Amino acid sequence: MNCKEFEKKIPAYIEQKLPYAELKEFCRHAGQCGECKEELTIQYLTTEGIQRLEDGGAFDLQKELDQHEADARRRIRFHDVFLHFGLALEVMAVSVIFGVVIWILA
Ligand SMILES: [Zn+2]
Repeated sequence: MNCKEFEKKIPAYIEQKLPYAELKEFCRHAGQCGECKEELTIQYLTTEGIQRLEDGGAFDLQKELDQHEADARRRIRFHDVFLHFGLALEVMAVSVIFGVVIWILA
């Protein structure tokens, strides 16, 4: 993902609407690119800040952004585990089928 793509996906990220694959790329880029990270922070503070002013609630947005990132990372980890688990199951299933075929042919 390059900086232009990153910038386009910021609103979706803030609304937590990025699909897993894009979320992963997004977080990776945010970790590598200081400028985009800053842009993300600014957009987050602006978007959520305006919302919060309308709601009239108290807020600690920097903390919330950190929380937002922690959530994103947790979701990525969950998906990664799930993917690996799915892959393991697939390999197992193929092995079983293979074994049965050999057993039938033998
Ligand atoms: Zn960038």
